[in-house]
Amino acid sequence: MALRAHKKSFGYDCAYTARISNMQISKTTAQTDTCKVTTTWFGFYRVRKGSNEILDTVDLLLPKYSYESQSAWIRVPQSIKAAVEIKDFRAGLHAAGHALLNVVPLYIICHSSDLASECVNPHDTRYVPERILLYDQRPGGTGISAQVQPLFTELLTAALELLTSCCCSGDTGCPNCVQSLACHEYNEVLDKDVAVIIIKGVLEAEKSYFNGFSRVSANISGAALPCIGFPRK
Ligand SMILES: [Zn+2]
Ligand SMILES: [Zn+2]
Repeated sequence: MALRAHKKSFGYDCAYTARISNMQISKTTAQTDTCKVTTTWFGFYRVRKGSNEILDTVDLLLPKYSYESQSAWIRVPQSIKAAVEIKDFRAGLHAAGHALLNVVPLYIICHSSDLASECVNPHDTRYVPERILLYDQRPGGTGISAQVQPLFTELLTAALELLTSCCCSGDTGCPNCVQSLACHEYNEVLDKDVAVIIIKGVLEAEKSYFNGFSRVSANISGAALPCIGFPRK
């Protein structure tokens, strides 16, 4: 009754309700590690005021900027990458990272600018690591990604819920689900549907890994989780 009175007096429902922390935390294969964040400057577009029409491209020759930080990441099964086109996989990973960023503040007290995900440049054709990675967006790290690591499964589940419940249409989603105002690549390469496939695939892999592990550990005492190396660029 008290809750009803509260809602009536303010006349709205919360868009996002905080996830209170007496929940059961799931096991996860997510890892936390140091990382090196490098920004490369390619150039800029000269655009016409008003219409935003691109007039020309200006190349820049500036030194790269980099800093050491901390990250939390989880592996995406190779089978998911093989099941979709490579350009869609890049866009799906990008969208999944943004969706994760959008739900982190429901679990951890932080500002949306404290963390960032790996953003995809439309001209980038480098190898795409099969991972969803979030990192502290401050030199040296702030410890937020270390708090993200044990909650990775919960965050993925919440991100999936966000993606499947958002009623926007189109691959590029909306600011409620996969778009981010802080995106380093201006949300140019995003695919919401592939993000759903990727996150479902990771959650399935986590489930079967830990189901298998509990059966094995019942027979072998002292069994340890295998170490997954951190893929460096
Ligand atoms: Zn949306
Ligand atoms: Zn981005």
